[in-house]
Amino acid sequence: MAIEKRTWAEPFKIKVVEPVRMSSQAERQQAIRDAGYNTFLLRSEDVYIDLLTDSGTSAMSDRQWAALMMGDEAYAGSRSFYRLESAVQTFYGYKYVVPTHQGRGAENLLSKSLIKPGDIVPGNMYFTTTRLHQELAGGTFVDVIIPEAHDPVNTHPFKGDVDLVRLEQVIKTYGRERIPYISIAATVNMAGGQPISLANIKAVGELAHQYGIRVILDAARVVENAYFIQEREPGYQDCTIAAIVKELCSYTDGCTMSAKKDPLVNIGGFLAVNDRAVYEDAANLAVIYEGLHTYGGMAGRDMEALATGIEESLHEDHIRARVGQVLYLGQKLIDAGVPIVKPVGGHGVFLDARAFLPHVPQEQYPAQALAAALYLDSGVRSMERGIVSAGRNKESGEENKPRLELVRLAIPRRVYTQAHMDVVAESVESVFSERESICGLRMTYEPKYLRFFQARFEPLAG
Ligand SMILES: *Cc1c(COP(=O)(O)O)cnc(C)c1O
Repeated sequence: MAIEKRTWAEPFKIKVVEPVRMSSQAERQQAIRDAGYNTFLLRSEDVYIDLLTDSGTSAMSDRQWAALMMGDEAYAGSRSFYRLESAVQTFYGYKYVVPTHQGRGAENLLSKSLIKPGDIVPGNMYFTTTRLHQELAGGTFVDVIIPEAHDPVNTHPFKGDVDLVRLEQVIKTYGRERIPYISIAATVNMAGGQPISLANIKAVGELAHQYGIRVILDAARVVENAYFIQEREPGYQDCTIAAIVKELCSYTDGCTMSAKKDPLVNIGGFLAVNDRAVYEDAANLAVIYEGLHTYGGMAGRDMEALATGIEESLHEDHIRARVGQVLYLGQKLIDAGVPIVKPVGGHGVFLDARAFLPHVPQEQYPAQALAAALYLDSGVRSMERGIVSAGRNKESGEENKPRLELVRLAIPRRVYTQAHMDVVAESVESVFSERESICGLRMTYEPKYLRFFQARFEPLAG
């Protein structure tokens, strides 16, 4: 067997370790109660395997840690900024870069620069912070993802694709003056880490540009998306991941980046655009909300680590092992008959809480209840991605009721081992075998914005 076809394995060895502790059932019972049955409110010390998010939780390499020492902490014109800018230009191909403290900082600058009250922003399924910034700027998000994306068992290879007919309808209905840009995510987090195909994003770009509308990429997981293109899209098997990422970005006019995802750092982000005027607006807004446009809320050392991380994230062996580990966990759960979103996504495995807990109606927050039950079983921390995350309609105030009611097991990059994945699978299987005993929840505290982060709940029965 050719060596590159053998089982995936991590292309690194471990140099530093951080101990984790397994708590007792009684301790976890107390901890989840104190946390109002919201895994965001747990202390990490009370968590054994932390799959809450892949955001900012990656392990940096020795080269990234070394890069920290090279940080230039000058307030203005830091050498580290120019290194970051050059990495963004080289690997993603955009002209102008404004660093931000993280992805939502870039979303804020972009939304404030481009959206005016009454505008419409079409996109391939919403993301929580992205949509909120669009709404706070006076815009309304309109979902134009293909219908397959809303079906957890549909195995379409590119469930992140845009429904082009629907997109053109939206453009014709509202008029291009009311559409500042089209918001495209690669991969689509809320659909279960599902990729968009190059053919589709190319067509989105052509359609949008024909109407004079920009396309802005949410690039947080564009490398994972590129991996699926290399695997699945005819004609790309011999292309490098770096070439696919660059081609994908080339169909768009700019991106917001949460560098806490694919680019392998613990904090950071940026806005990158090709249009000088948009850049100037965003760079000016940056001084209000982030910091001077050559650091935007990041320390010089963090920009150094990010520049190195961007380059490492594109290594073929890295991304193969990263997505390989996610698939490993997903396949174990599929083999055990646990209902999950298929195909398995790029950054995590998503449990289908509707199928898992058919006796809990959506108004009783089944995914929230399932995440709490999984934590209670083993100290594995996950996150709700369903009705709680979807929040309320900005006009009617009614709860949005997404078809997908999911629990996300997000895998941090380069952090956990295959044995950890085995423990996670065992715990999910054990909760699945006792699923009838899990009851729904009642919300006892609901914050105004992004309620999933801070809401509190209590069980409806003992
Ligand atoms: C995390 C994330 C964001 C927001 O970025 P932050 O760094 O958390 O502010 C935006 N879009 C997607 C798809 C994300 O996963």
